[in-house]
Amino acid sequence: MKVELKQLQTPVKNLWCPGCGDFGILTAIKRAVVELGIDIENVVFVMGIGCHGKMANYINANTFKVIHGRVLPVALGIKMANHKLTVIGHSGDGDAYGIGMGHFPHAIRRNLDMTLIVHDNMVYGLTTGQVAPTSQKGYVSKTTPYGNIENPINPIALAIASGATFVARVFPSHLAHTINVFKQAIQHRGFALVDVLQVCHTFNKVNDYNYYKKRTYILEETDYQPNDRVEAFRKALEWGDEGTPGNGIPVGIFYKEDQPTFEEQIPALRNGPLAQQPLENINIDMLAENFS
Ligand code: SF4
Repeated sequence: MKVELKQLQTPVKNLWCPGCGDFGILTAIKRAVVELGIDIENVVFVMGIGCHGKMANYINANTFKVIHGRVLPVALGIKMANHKLTVIGHSGDGDAYGIGMGHFPHAIRRNLDMTLIVHDNMVYGLTTGQVAPTSQKGYVSKTTPYGNIENPINPIALAIASGATFVARVFPSHLAHTINVFKQAIQHRGFALVDVLQVCHTFNKVNDYNYYKKRTYILEETDYQPNDRVEAFRKALEWGDEGTPGNGIPVGIFYKEDQPTFEEQIPALRNGPLAQQPLENINIDMLAENFS
C-alpha cells in the first residue's frame, strides 16, 4: 500500500528537544518513502538506542527497536527471513560506531541490501552529553572536561575502506538534497550508508546549525563523480572551514557501484523468501540428532 505523508504520523507526543536535528531526519525519511511510492507494508525500520531510537514511536510503519548497537544484526536477520522487504536501519553515532562497531564493517563487506542512516551528532545525547566516537578532537563534554584527546572516527572513509557500495553524507537543513540522497540510498541494491550531520544543540554546542551551514557544500553541485573509490577516499578525508570544494565539509554521494548482494549469493533464498517457502519437505532429523 502506497502511503501519504499524513498516514505516517503517529499520535505519540514527540519528546525530542525543540530544534533537534532529528526532526529534519524524520521529515526527510518520511518524504523519501512517500515519494518513492513503495509499499509501506513491506518496509521495516530498525532503530537502536539513543535519541534517534524514539523514531520507532514517531513513524506509523513496521518498526523494530533493538538493544544498543544491534541494528545491523537484527536487520540481517530480517533480510534473511524475508529478503523482499525494504529494511532501513537508524542508528546514532554511539550506536553504530561505538558499541555496534563490530557489526559495521561486516555488514558492509557482505553488501547486505539495506540502508543504514546514522544520526551522527558527535555526542551521546540521550545520556546527557558524553564524548562519542565521532566527537571532534578538543571537544569538551562531561567526560572530557579538558577536551577530547582522541581522534574521531571517520565513518565515510571507514565505509569506503570496508568495500561499501553506496556511501553518502547529508545535512538535513539541505532538505531537498537529503530527501533525494535517502531515496537513492533506499533504491540502491546493496548496503547503503548515509551519515547524517545531526545537530544536538542541547549537548553539542560546537557542531550546531551555523557550524554546518558555513562549512558544508553539496557534491552534486560540483563536477565530482562518485565512481572512483580512490577519489572517494580522498574526498572522505576533507573537513574544512570554508564551505568550498577542497576546503569544506562535502555532503552528497561519495561513492556508489553495483555489486552482487549478500542475499543474491545464498542458494537457499533463490526459491523466494524463507518466510514464504513451504516447510513440508524440510527434514531436520539430522540436525536434531546432532544436538540430542
Ligand atoms: Fe536531540 Fe540532543 Fe535533545 Fe537528544 S539531547 S533530543 S539529540 S537535541
